[in-house]
Amino acid sequence: MTRNSLLDTVPAEFSPERPSSEAVLLAPAAVLTPEGIQHGYGVVVSDGKFLAVAALESLSAEFGGIQRVDLPGRLLMPGFIDSHQHLAQAFGKALAFGEPSEIFKRIWVPLEGFLNQELVYLSGKLAAFEALRGGITTVADAGARSSGDLSVLAQAAEEAGLRCVLGIICNDFPESPNPPDKNEILKRADDHLSRYDGNALITPSLAISIPEIASDWMLNQVYERCREAGRVFQTHVNEHLAAVERSLVDRRLRPLEHLARAKALGPHTLAAHVTLVTPAELNLLRDTDTAVAYNPVASQWKGNAVCPALQMEALGIRLGLGTDGTRSDGFRLVDAAESLQRIAFGLSVGDSSCGGGYKWLDMSSRGGAEVLGLSGVTGSIKPGLAADFLLVDLDVPELTPSWDLPWDLVRLGNRSQIEAVFVGGRLRLWQGWPVDWDGKALMERINKLAGEAVAQAPIKRVHGTSAEYTGFRRELGI
Ligand SMILES: [Zn+2]
Repeated sequence: MTRNSLLDTVPAEFSPERPSSEAVLLAPAAVLTPEGIQHGYGVVVSDGKFLAVAALESLSAEFGGIQRVDLPGRLLMPGFIDSHQHLAQAFGKALAFGEPSEIFKRIWVPLEGFLNQELVYLSGKLAAFEALRGGITTVADAGARSSGDLSVLAQAAEEAGLRCVLGIICNDFPESPNPPDKNEILKRADDHLSRYDGNALITPSLAISIPEIASDWMLNQVYERCREAGRVFQTHVNEHLAAVERSLVDRRLRPLEHLARAKALGPHTLAAHVTLVTPAELNLLRDTDTAVAYNPVASQWKGNAVCPALQMEALGIRLGLGTDGTRSDGFRLVDAAESLQRIAFGLSVGDSSCGGGYKWLDMSSRGGAEVLGLSGVTGSIKPGLAADFLLVDLDVPELTPSWDLPWDLVRLGNRSQIEAVFVGGRLRLWQGWPVDWDGKALMERINKLAGEAVAQAPIKRVHGTSAEYTGFRRELGI
């Protein structure tokens, strides 16, 4: 579908040409607010924000003069928040399927290291496009390992209309034989933290890939800079058995214990994965108010274990959900989050409810904003917050009849039901396609360039393609 024919189907009230200062009253069949599903509610959007969220009757009286858009059969819900993503990995996809853990060493570091700025930009734009198609309106990028100016990722996110917490990597023990100067790393970090002041969509963040790849001094410096700037420090923690054992051999401490010693745990730390966690480490997370990005699909595809998210939540640990660059699909993400808690923990103790449906919608929206330090910006359908929301078609056979919409959305919801994606009050996608830039042209350009990039990057796959794997096993008679 070309841009022009798509635009013909967009209701005039949602046209990108319409001035954002013109308030509009949306009247959907249901609204998902922090208190749950509301029927008979309206939402007033003005200047990119939610101005009012209340019973439609009272809003009609209060805002009688503004345009009203009836949305029968539609749910207005917050956009999903991906609290752990890698925008520079969008060309990798199936290269990582079936691979044993620690694919960052064999696939991601070689691929990201090979990408020039144009390819990083294209990967970022593709990842942003995929995120929006999956109903994700905010992502946290955990830092790309490519050289050069990574502000091209910010450019890509802004062009696509995706809200982005953008990390840059501050490792001072890199794999290369010429480690960068510590002062240069910190100068770059400071520049990054102050670069996006006043930017509507981009929030800076600092990252260290894994704790063992930095000195204790650098871990602490990076944490302190994030604390002073009110930003988030991102790192991968206790993800795989190999990572835990490497840390034990190098530092005589597990990764989380190592972060504690370096004074790099606290309310500004966002620890991704945290799947292999001891009771003492759970206490460390709770006592330091460190947040966690639970990445269920990463566990499905390449993990040794599952983050005990419900146990953490019961301890008062803050959690968001992340894709880790696996699959940018908000509905499949919440489904995986619930399913994995059930399989890994619920089955053995008879916990058949495993969060009760609504918890996973909340963790993937309000919870995600909270762990990213954006709870005053986005994550809920609430007056004063940015109008980041989805219009979801409820009038589908899968939801007929619907007895419990939160549970229905977690287990039966599908990306195909997302009719419109709004970020900052602006329509970004309509029926899965961008309304103000050419998604198909981007895909064509990437198809021309990605093959060569992947062929030339020093990627080492263990598995081979699915056909090679099958042939190899057949030759061995197994
Ligand atoms: Zn990651």
